[in-house]
Amino acid sequence: MPESPLTKQCDECGSVYRASKSQMAALCPECAHYLYGYPNCAHEFEHGRCVLCHWDGSVSDYVKTLKSGNAPVDTEFPDKSGSRDGCPSRPPHHLASGAALGGSAKRSKLGS
Ligand SMILES: [Zn+2]
Ligand SMILES: [Zn+2]
Repeated sequence: MPESPLTKQCDECGSVYRASKSQMAALCPECAHYLYGYPNCAHEFEHGRCVLCHWDGSVSDYVKTLKSGNAPVDTEFPDKSGSRDGCPSRPPHHLASGAALGGSAKRSKLGS
């Protein structure tokens, strides 16, 4: 007979956790802490699983980045160098004007 029937699976890390230990409906205390700032469980691991919240130590990639302090930044190109090869934008020469020759050469043959 399981000690705690109210175990859920974390949406973030996929670990099973004890629902009564987490403030979030679908997140283990660990993920709820790093994602939303809820108080974390003071994990006490035994045989690879926290005896308090049943978290098994799984960490999603996203939470892993949060833990390491390297939160993903939004800036795509941090170094935006303004000078790109020093090529002034010069419009191409258009020689089309005034080159119209002839027009319509009318050949009127008067055959009589
Ligand atoms: Zn989790
Ligand atoms: Zn725990």
